[in-house]
This record gives sequence, C-alpha cells and structure tokens, in this order.
Amino acid sequence: MTTDINPLLKQIESVVGKAGLLSGKQLAGRSAGIWSGTELEALALVRPGSTAEVAEVMKLCHVAGQVVVPAGGMTGLAGGHESTHSDIVLSTERMNRIESMDADSRYMTVQAGVILQTVQEAADDAGLMFALDLGARASCTIGGNIATNAGGVRVLRFGMMREQVLGLEVVLADGSIVSSMFNVLKNNTGYDLRQMFLGSEGTLGIVTRAVLRLHEAPLAIETALLAVPSWKQVMKLLRYFDGALPGALAAYEVLWRDHYQLNTGPYSSVDAPLDTDEPYYVLLDVFISDHEHGRDKLEALLMAALEEGEISDGVLASSEAERARFWQIRENFEPEQACYNKIYGYDVSLPLEAMETYVDEVRGALLQRFTDAALYAYGHIGDGNLHFSIYPGAQQERDAVDEIVYSPLQALRGSVSAEHGIGLEKKAYLGYTRSATEIDLMRRTKRMMDPANILNPGKLFDL
Ligand SMILES: Cc1cc2nc3c(=O)[nH]c(=O)nc-3n(C[C@H](O)[C@H](O)[C@H](O)COP(=O)(O)OP(=O)(O)OC[C@H]3O[C@@H](n4cnc5c(N)ncnc54)[C@H](O)[C@@H]3O)c2cc1C
Repeated sequence: MTTDINPLLKQIESVVGKAGLLSGKQLAGRSAGIWSGTELEALALVRPGSTAEVAEVMKLCHVAGQVVVPAGGMTGLAGGHESTHSDIVLSTERMNRIESMDADSRYMTVQAGVILQTVQEAADDAGLMFALDLGARASCTIGGNIATNAGGVRVLRFGMMREQVLGLEVVLADGSIVSSMFNVLKNNTGYDLRQMFLGSEGTLGIVTRAVLRLHEAPLAIETALLAVPSWKQVMKLLRYFDGALPGALAAYEVLWRDHYQLNTGPYSSVDAPLDTDEPYYVLLDVFISDHEHGRDKLEALLMAALEEGEISDGVLASSEAERARFWQIRENFEPEQACYNKIYGYDVSLPLEAMETYVDEVRGALLQRFTDAALYAYGHIGDGNLHFSIYPGAQQERDAVDEIVYSPLQALRGSVSAEHGIGLEKKAYLGYTRSATEIDLMRRTKRMMDPANILNPGKLFDL
C-alpha cells in the first residue's frame, strides 16, 4: 500500500485514521465524477471527519508542498475537481452532518459534505425551504455548491448560492482555520471575506462548515409549460408573469424547439405535453401563497396570454407527478446521451435582448464549420443564463467549438461561465469576460492566500 512507502501519507493517516485515507488498490472502482466515466486518479483520497482534521492535513501538505484537490459530490461541470496521480484528493464525504437547525431564526448549520437534497428535505420537514435547487441535487454537496457559487433553477427569485450563506468556516492552504459562522443576515464589519470563497473553486480554501439561510416554504408550487411563437414573446411573458405575480415567479426556463423535441421524442420516457411546433417552450414555476385563488390566478393569466396570441398553447401541471415530468423535459440528459457519443456542455450568460441572435449565429457558425454537428439550447433564461449541449460532429474539435461559442460574448458583455465556474475547461477564455486588471488581482489574491500554490493549482488560471 502507498502509505507504507510514503511518509506524508503515513502522517496523514495518523490524523484521519485508516478509514480516512484510501490509496493504491483501495482506489479501484472510485469514480472520477459522474460525467467522466473513468476511475479517480490520485496519490490518495483523504477523507477527514472534522474541521480540525482538515486543518491538520493541510498543515502537513503545506510543509510538504503537496497538491490538494478538494472534492465534494464531483458533479462539477468545469473540471474543477479533476486530479492527477500525484495529487491528494480531499473529499468531504465523511463531513456529512446537519449540526443544527433553528426554525424560528430560519437558519441551518451544516458540515460541507452534506448533500444538497438532504438539506432541502430537512428544511422541508421543518416547514421551511432551502432555496438552492439544481439537477444534481441528489449528489452535489453544500461545500461544492459554495465553492462553485452554484445557481440552478430558482436564482430569479432567491439569488445564487452566495445569497444563501450566512456564515462560513474555511481551512486555508497553510492549515489555519477561518471561522466566520455568523447566523445573521446583516453584518457590515469591513471586507466580507466569506464571499471571497463563494465561487473560488477550491483554490483559496477548503470549506468545512456553513450556516445556511432558510426561507418560508410556499403553500404549493404550480408549474406551467407554454408554447411560444417568438423570442420577443419569451421576453414579454417573463415580465408579464413576474409583474402579475410579484415575488411568486420562482423559475423561468426556456427550451429551444430542438431540445423540447429531443426530450419528448423516442429516446425520452416523457411524452410531449404540448402537441405544437413552436421555436420556444417556457417552463415556469410559481410559488402559491393563497390556496384558494393562487392556481385560478395563474390559469386566468394563461388564458389571457392564449387569447392575446402571446402563446399558442399552454398547460398547467395537474399533479406532483406531472410537475416532475415537465421538469424532466428540461433536466433529462439521457436522450442526448443515447443519440450522441460525445456532447460538449456550455453555460454562458448574456443580455436577453441579444440571445435569439446569438443562438442563431452560434448555430450557423457551428454548422458551417462542422456540417454533421448538432446544437441544443435551453437554460435559466429568467437569469440570462443559456446552456448549450453541442454534438461537435465526427471531427470533435473542442477548441474550434469553444471559440465559436465564446468569442461573440466579448462584444455582448456576456460571461463565459454563468454558474458552472471556470475550472480547467474555460481557463483559456477567462479573459473574454474578465479584464486583465481583474485577473491580475485574482492572481495576487491566490499568491497571498496560497503562496506554495498547493490548493487546486492550475484551476481558474495559471499563476
Ligand atoms: C445533472 C446536473 C445538473 C446541474 N445543474 C446545475 C445548475 O443548474 N446550476 C449549477 O450551478 N450547477 C449545476 N450543475 C453543476 C454542479 O452540480 C455544481 O457545480 C455543484 O455546485 C458542484 O457540487 P459538488 O459537491 O459536486 O462539487 P465538486 O464537483 O466535487 O467540486 C466542484 C468544485 O468545487 C471544489 N470543492 C468541492 N468541495 C469543496 C469544499 N468543501 N471546499 C472547497 N472547494 C470545494 C472542487 O475543488 C471543484 O473545484 C449540474 C450538474 C449536473 C451533473
């Protein structure tokens, strides 16, 4: 076993115990992440059980100049958790406890390795709600959500992960513990250091614990699917529903025709709820605070939109099972995996008024260069966040496809990453969204906080 020959691993084992360190053959069968399809590459997988253990491990690695890659649920889509055979992967999987919940003050204290869905369910049991929600809810961790500043399907109403974190505890590269476990909403006492770690992708510190903000749960959620004839109407309907139902519109997702057809076609387990052929399909969630009139009001709004010709058809889910089916049309990736041997995922943001033209231009440029390519567009459009699933065609030239997607964003003041982060995948394009001065400040921050460059080096940018 590697610990026999590696003195550092021996020292780490004395901190985390035998169950806390896996190396050599013990790593066989450990996945490198849900999309990778390969086995984890690492010198060792270290699984501390507490903040104190993380701190001791980091002190040892700091002295030894050992690279450490933090890992949560490994559902990240930018390669931030990727490791090589010489890295220590530090997983929070044994730090998976909800420590406490205060329903009256509406907060929950958790360890970083708690799965998002576990937090959602615990809040739900107390009649409350944790606002972050995304497709990987059953596998991703709170630590990973913090490190990536995750977005998801309710950003429109509740903001991104950075809005959900009241307090944070982090272990720095040298093993010092920064504990800022406040549970109050307002705290204007100088720089908000906590926010520096939100979206830092494991390069500045290891998140070990957090205090999460909870919200009142809605009485019910109504979900509607609409067929929309034009982009102008997609934009108009966002304001129509948001304006008529102030504070209640919680999700506004848009599926371009191809995505809707693929995910309701022969490779999907969900049949098309709307038998129409329109360029856009809108999926929206409305939080209901009035049982008697909430659904009626939404129904009336749909009828009026139909009569005015703003939608060509629309349907309100009649049960929880039907709601789930509508959402599957948005979130299911199985049909594209069944159709294509390779899919590149993209996550960009740009102003809504530019989105229709941008998608058309990207599609046009892609098909001109790779005639056998295919593009599916969908996303959290209420947040200006667009996703592409692109089959690159037989040539599989990633750089060329990246350039087609990212280069128009500079002129549009868009972002090469709306919510998934930069990781390894988008490093080359960081400068398309951030200025040289901003990147320089990021580099100086990294050098100051991790002078030995041992925490997730080479992610986000090279030093
Ligand atoms: C089906 C599917 C749907 C998704 N939908 C969305 C979506 O709607 N919105 C969205 O934002 N993302 C989405 N994602 C991406 C992903 O789920 C998020 O980025 C999530 O926040 C990652 O959490 P994780 O625990 O899996 O982190 P990992 O993948 O393990 O790690 C991600 C990054 O965080 C770092 N990290 C992990 N834990 C810690 C820690 N404790 N301390 C410091 N750094 C750490 C890692 O080093 C890495 O850089 C989706 C993914 C899938 C597979």
